Amino acid sequence: MRWSPGKRSGNLRDRRASTGGGGIPLPGKLGGGLGTIIVIIVALLVGTGGDGGSTGSGGGALGEILEQLGGPTVPAATDDALDADAPDPERRQVDFVSFVLDDVQGVWREQFRRSGEQYRDATLELFRGRTSTACGTGTSDTGPFYCPPDQGVYIDLGFFRELSDRFGAPGDFAQAYVIAHEIGHHVQNLLGIDEQVRARSEREPDRENDLSIRQELQADCFAGVWGHAAYTRELLESGDLEEGLAAAESVGDDRIQEAAGADVNPETWTHGSAAQRQTWFRRGYDSGDPERCDTFSADL
Ligand SMILES: [Zn+2]
Repeated sequence: MRWSPGKRSGNLRDRRASTGGGGIPLPGKLGGGLGTIIVIIVALLVGTGGDGGSTGSGGGALGEILEQLGGPTVPAATDDALDADAPDPERRQVDFVSFVLDDVQGVWREQFRRSGEQYRDATLELFRGRTSTACGTGTSDTGPFYCPPDQGVYIDLGFFRELSDRFGAPGDFAQAYVIAHEIGHHVQNLLGIDEQVRARSEREPDRENDLSIRQELQADCFAGVWGHAAYTRELLESGDLEEGLAAAESVGDDRIQEAAGADVNPETWTHGSAAQRQTWFRRGYDSGDPERCDTFSADL
């Protein structure tokens, strides 16, 4: 992809240091609401560990409190996790995630605007190992995931190494596809699709897997819609589409989650065949039109 490093998204939450290694239990988004605010304030006062970890950085935790209270957002000191002076070996990688996050959400903001809707940004948290979310404890074993109640995407950068080495899907656009897929789930959440699928699954439990597959394939198609927008702005290089298609093929949850024992289960784990995932990513990519992503009435 064509992109320039050096910028950090205001929606990026860098918790790599505060979540790594285990040991100290994390204060975090345990239940949302007031409890969370109190936990964050405590962390701020104590000035150690967890979400409010780096004292003096100013924006991060305080910004979050203000966000929760609905007040103005303090510009995020996103790198809350690392000593600013220490070299960060993953800096370029984090910059890339940040770039893709903003680019994907920019495309959706425009899509929503065109249909008279308002887009609300998701956040993206980088963590190591395990982290607390409104969906419970998230672990790297599950792969990247989206948690609807806190509208957050959660990624352990180790997944991208696995994507390349274990799943055989290397390349920056493969990573971009993964991020765009997760933001696709956020779009489904904003559009109420998420909720409809859940309600319908409750009414018709024997359709649960089928509905899950359709929801996942739609997220793939939405990722493709972004890919199209990236293509039209000449952000893609030769080989990028192939990287995306290879990634779509490789990230069936059956393969990602062979490592078991995950607490968070924000998505059901039926994602469709490799061929289906490629087909729907491609449909979004070729058309650039979210209306072509109606996986719920299509013959799969
Ligand atoms: Zn998914």
